[in-house]
Amino acid sequence: INITITPTGEEKEINIGDVIILRNITLFKELDFAKTNFIATVSHELKTPIASIKLSLQLLQNAKTGAMNEDQNQLVESIKEDSQRLLKITGELLNLSQLETGNIQLNIEKSNPYNIVNYAKEAVKVQADQKQIKLVIDANENLPDVKADSEKTGWVLINYLSNAITYSSEKSTIVIKLKEENNQILFQVIDTGKGIDARYKDKVFDKYFQIPGSRKSGTGLGLAISKEFIEAQNGTIGVESNLGLGSTFWFSLNI
Ligand code: ADP
Repeated sequence: INITITPTGEEKEINIGDVIILRNITLFKELDFAKTNFIATVSHELKTPIASIKLSLQLLQNAKTGAMNEDQNQLVESIKEDSQRLLKITGELLNLSQLETGNIQLNIEKSNPYNIVNYAKEAVKVQADQKQIKLVIDANENLPDVKADSEKTGWVLINYLSNAITYSSEKSTIVIKLKEENNQILFQVIDTGKGIDARYKDKVFDKYFQIPGSRKSGTGLGLAISKEFIEAQNGTIGVESNLGLGSTFWFSLNI
């Protein structure tokens, strides 16, 4: 600590000592770890019953249990949507806690990019149908394989597609484009939805960030997890967008 004394008008700096603050953060770290583990356990435990609720609702609609009237059907449809949302949130929490505890294990192998994209497209089909949104794959059939964890890469695409559907209007088209470029495969999900203001472009990949005024549900975790997943595979990730015109969320992975 330096202080300046000027009794005679002259300036003098003397050192009267140093202050060192030491704090034992072991306990905080342990608590943080315990919390993350707790979130992992809870989200894992929640996934199974929610998935089973969804399945039972599907069975209920399959008429074997007796046909439902229009109102009952609508109620079941809305519970199904809610359970899908809950599944998404628990999946995100589980992924996040695995990332935070360093529990993430990559299973890198040569994977066909077209297959990953097709799998993701099928996974969001029901959500797209609800808004009569068309999903189109634009890709050359004989693209080389990528070195990727196909499950985690598929998860990122599902998240991109699910967002694109949420922020696009009914009956619009979403294009999933694959392109070979500089020894990499570029994956793009192109929507013509509400777009993103330039000032939020980089922030959308931050944990818990949601654009002010956008939907209230969701966790703001999907894109943050996506970034971690892609960067863990030595890939790059980003978004181009024009407010009001649409967004292109992309990532590229090595061949
Ligand atoms: P969540 O969808 O759970 O809110 P995400 O991390 O997936 O979290 O997305 C963060 C935010 O980025 C969203 O809340 C939304 O405001 C914005 N966003 C994501 N995808 C799109 C998109 N395709 N079009 C417009 N805004 C988007």
